[in-house]
Amino acid sequence: MATVKGDVHDIGKNIVGVVLGCNGYDIVDMGVMVSCEKILDTAIKEKVDIIGLSGLITPSLDEMVYVAREMQRLGFKIPLMIGGATTSKAHTAVKVEPQYHNDGVVYVTDASRAVVASLLLSPEMKPIFLAERKAEYAEVRERYANRQPKAPKLSYEKSIAEKFSHDWNNYTPPKPKKLGVEVLKDYPLEEVRKYIDWTPFFITWSLAGKFPAILKDKVVGVEATRLFADAQAMLDKLIGENLLAANGVIGFCHAQINDDDVEVYTDDSRQTVLTTLHHLRQQSDKVSGKPNYSLADFIAPKSSTAQDYIGAFAVTTGLGAEDVVKAYRDAGDDYNAIMEQSLADRLAEAFAEHLHERVRKEYWGYQPNEQLDNDALIKEKYVGIRPAPGYPACPEHTEKGTLFALLDAEKNANITLTEHYAMWPAAAVSGFYYSLPQSTYFNVGKIDKDQVQSYAQRKGWDMLKAEKWLSPNLGYEPS
Ligand code: SAH
Repeated sequence: MATVKGDVHDIGKNIVGVVLGCNGYDIVDMGVMVSCEKILDTAIKEKVDIIGLSGLITPSLDEMVYVAREMQRLGFKIPLMIGGATTSKAHTAVKVEPQYHNDGVVYVTDASRAVVASLLLSPEMKPIFLAERKAEYAEVRERYANRQPKAPKLSYEKSIAEKFSHDWNNYTPPKPKKLGVEVLKDYPLEEVRKYIDWTPFFITWSLAGKFPAILKDKVVGVEATRLFADAQAMLDKLIGENLLAANGVIGFCHAQINDDDVEVYTDDSRQTVLTTLHHLRQQSDKVSGKPNYSLADFIAPKSSTAQDYIGAFAVTTGLGAEDVVKAYRDAGDDYNAIMEQSLADRLAEAFAEHLHERVRKEYWGYQPNEQLDNDALIKEKYVGIRPAPGYPACPEHTEKGTLFALLDAEKNANITLTEHYAMWPAAAVSGFYYSLPQSTYFNVGKIDKDQVQSYAQRKGWDMLKAEKWLSPNLGYEPS
């Protein structure tokens, strides 16, 4: 099992490893960021019976297709299991399975389904199980080929005409208290801890239900309460013994909109462009009459009289996490290894939440008297947004490269990007700050070729490259 090249997330894979280990299987866990060559070499050397691939970010989908193609080319004759947050039955059926015919390809929804391994290893069950999967995936492919586009798409031009509009000439954007970059090293985690959103923690552990109600749930309440108590003890230890470091960097710049891009300037003369951030716009024909949003709608255009700003951030709470995880794993304590990873992830989101609050109240300072409890923060009741590249409003991952350069996040926060723009350490969050009260999170969704062409041109890319990085959002079959 491996998390593919360019991807860093492996909690789900590690849980699968534990589930299979408990069922008597021998797991060769290759960790994260593993190249195809290494996976296949190891599979041969270790004489494995199944290969399992995992991934969280969308670029990993292509990487999995590549591994399947290589398995075919090199004559592998063992099943391939596909799993991880970004994967799906549709992707496995449409993209992965057609690449590999020598044996089966199986999509595994979540860790609890990992026991399908037993079917793949049973000489009697395997042919039946794989025949069922093949039929199922063929059906998915057929449905996919015949699918009707969900909503009729607008041309890019038309969707720009339907954008969110604002009376910029009668609006004065708030000015950040201090422009430039602010580095926050070794941030107190005791403070960060209070901002944890616990519901996703239980999802990671496959316990469904909202926190805190989940602690009293009829079915999983006892288990959830025990897990929560263990989490508190682990947090006490991680923070008390200084086993994790939290580093962050935030920055504020002069910025204006030019077409669907954000121009970031070196100084208040707004003449010299320091860097440009590229955005995508919704192209759905909305019966609701809602605008076709782009993150370029929430900053004042160059053509207006308003002088606007953008903020940026990158935070991690994963520095030191690797050592802790390794120590637990070496001691055979998978439970605590996974517990540590899941908490480092929670702390990173909590750090982002906490810093965003401080930005609104102090650094940008446009909401100095805000009083929101944790529940209100989780429900995004705050003024402004902090969209993160790779998420629905700005799904294109390479923009993280521009963001990181702007903040010098590698030097200032010790976070690096992989070749597929995943952040390392994995427990990290990065994004932009927007102050406009009307700014909102949204989903770009499917876009058409006209917008891809524009995006490619603005980024200085050829169409092939643009279609690769925008592939999850393409509303058409690339040529
Ligand atoms: N409270 C949750 C937040 C998860 S979303 C948690 O602790 O897991 C993770 C981050 O993605 C948010 O902090 C925000 O920065 C960003 N985000 C959320 N919705 C988004 C969207 N539609 N587009 C872009 N970024 C988004």
